[in-house]
Amino acid sequence: MEWKDGAKCAVCLTFDLDAEISWRNILERNKIDRDNPVVLSLGEYGPKAALPRILRLLEKHEVKAGFYIPGEVAERYPESVKEIDGFGHEIGHHGYSHRNPASLTVKEEREELEKGFAALEPLVEERPQGYRAPAADMSESTYSLLAESGLMYDSTMMGADLPYVVEIGEQKMVELPFKWILDDWAFFGFNYFPPLEYQSGIDSHRKVYEIWADEFEAVYDEGLYMMLVMHPQIMGVPSRAKMLENLITKMKTDGDVWITTPLEVAQFWLEQEG
Ligand SMILES: [Zn+2]
Repeated sequence: MEWKDGAKCAVCLTFDLDAEISWRNILERNKIDRDNPVVLSLGEYGPKAALPRILRLLEKHEVKAGFYIPGEVAERYPESVKEIDGFGHEIGHHGYSHRNPASLTVKEEREELEKGFAALEPLVEERPQGYRAPAADMSESTYSLLAESGLMYDSTMMGADLPYVVEIGEQKMVELPFKWILDDWAFFGFNYFPPLEYQSGIDSHRKVYEIWADEFEAVYDEGLYMMLVMHPQIMGVPSRAKMLENLITKMKTDGDVWITTPLEVAQFWLEQEG
């Protein structure tokens, strides 16, 4: 596999800016007071404290990333969305209320997509072309609804090491799969409650660096692509942001790597396949 300009592998750094909303979903799911202020402040850390650090880091290393933002978060933090967009990063669709699409009716799922676009579009230069499903889950209708609303790629599935084309009727979409071992939440997502969901422990960022760096080396050797799925509230903690910086430095010094936005990878893939 040869990537753009002869690069050996492609890397996408992506961030799901879920802010308070994913915690609110978790509280609701567990029938706990949805407005618990301490739990919600865990999410608030994302746009308020972590995002500026991540944007500085990406700017310093001159890399463009993808940010998936639920519509409700865009309405609550419009300046953050504008700032991300202003730096030239890609903004992707991540639902409106971050409810799991598999739990919705087709009508509700369509409304989530429409409301998400309505919230994002006034804040960004270009209409989002990519989607990542909230809660990493999809319904049987999701792909056709995405195609219907003009999206050109999705990044939710986990069944392949490379992008692939999905045909929905006449329309072609690209799927950019990821893996749980490349998701920060799987290692670091933590709160005291709900205990069954979130007391798995806080992993060492050094251990996670090792996993990600080894995965990068193997991906590089095999000429594959690497989709890192991160969340500002998780990865933007100082020590973890530093770890990410070390990883970016390693990637850049190891050789011919195409670090780019998911949209660029999806467009490249479609051209190759076409
Ligand atoms: Zn999310």
